[in-house]
Amino acid sequence: MANIKKTINTRLIHGPVDGDKHTGAVNVPIYQTSTYSQISPGKHKGYEYSRTGNPTREALEKLIADLESGYAGFGFASGLAAITAVLSLFKSCDKIIISNNVYGGTFRVLNTVFKNFGIGHELVDTSKPEEVEAAITDGVKAIYIETPTNPLLNITDIKAISEIAKAHNLYTIVDNTFYTPYLQRPIEYGADIVIHSATKYLGGHSDLIAGLVVVNNKEIASKIAFIQNSMGGVLQPFDSFLLIRGIKTLGVRMDRHVSNAEILAEALRNNSEVKKIYYPGFKEHPGHDINFKQAKNGGAIISFELTENHNVDRFFEGLKHFILAESLGGVESLVCHPASMTHAAIPREIRDSVGITDSLIRLSVGIEDVKELQDDLEQAIAASRRYGR
Ligand SMILES: *Cc1c(COP(=O)(O)O)cnc(C)c1O
Repeated sequence: MANIKKTINTRLIHGPVDGDKHTGAVNVPIYQTSTYSQISPGKHKGYEYSRTGNPTREALEKLIADLESGYAGFGFASGLAAITAVLSLFKSCDKIIISNNVYGGTFRVLNTVFKNFGIGHELVDTSKPEEVEAAITDGVKAIYIETPTNPLLNITDIKAISEIAKAHNLYTIVDNTFYTPYLQRPIEYGADIVIHSATKYLGGHSDLIAGLVVVNNKEIASKIAFIQNSMGGVLQPFDSFLLIRGIKTLGVRMDRHVSNAEILAEALRNNSEVKKIYYPGFKEHPGHDINFKQAKNGGAIISFELTENHNVDRFFEGLKHFILAESLGGVESLVCHPASMTHAAIPREIRDSVGITDSLIRLSVGIEDVKELQDDLEQAIAASRRYGR
């Protein structure tokens, strides 16, 4: 079995560590232990202390490394703990180029915490590789991207960015939360490090906070392993189990998320009350062709604006199936108002200038019945009209 090349749908379920070799249990057990008995001082069975290593977490780490075509994986207590661990590779006077609309928490930790340690950052529109190239100065050590970005779904060419990074001896870091390895595997396009908020699609059920890091070689793996053990923000055994369990259904969930999203995006595009829509699955979406070179499809996040004839608050209040909440990637459909929720910390002029207007709406399309989701959007749009049609 071990040498047979398995496709991703099989690997999601039978990862590198499958079941329990001691009992035949079909699931990896939850090793709820902090420590391990040693045979004699310094002689142990591979585990000493659960911050350093835990078999349940290790099964998850091997699974995500395999899925992302990486060398090694690491489990963290949250997406931000994973991001913090990766940023801890850098030292004072180093600088990181980041996408100009990275996840708010990534920007915040760089702009507050890491700034105090002398680690700089520069915001660049990474969808334009020439602007990335132009921003590379002496201290720059890494390029950190998200593709697609939140909430406007801008696309960055992973291969083009990795080539620039390699030419200048920089790391390419990709936050792959929005697509997961089922849709996009950045390491296959030259990335060195992939980060996940596994809270989202990988966990998939809005019941878990977790983060993952995957690296492409032994050298970075030993650095991240050292940081993981030294800084200590590890994922717990039970949460590791939940995440393994979530990942088993990633393929079927993503297929449904995406097919629902494609139908809803098309319905919204054809709706005369929708002024603007952002969905990477559309031919006219900027970056569509690059997206389809590096990813399987356009994912399941849609952003749109209603015409001025609509009261946006009433649209949110009128929804019956879509839940107004932060986060994304769970089986249930969620809706959010980026300007007041995820991007509230950004001043309005900047928000408006990049397109995150007060009327922008973001959907995380769930796996419910798509007709009922479509009816829900349409009735809420109708209920939010200011004056008839
Ligand atoms: C949610 C999110 C994070 C942060 O992850 P947590 O698990 O909430 O700490 C990072 N990046 C992206 C793209 C996210 O959506």
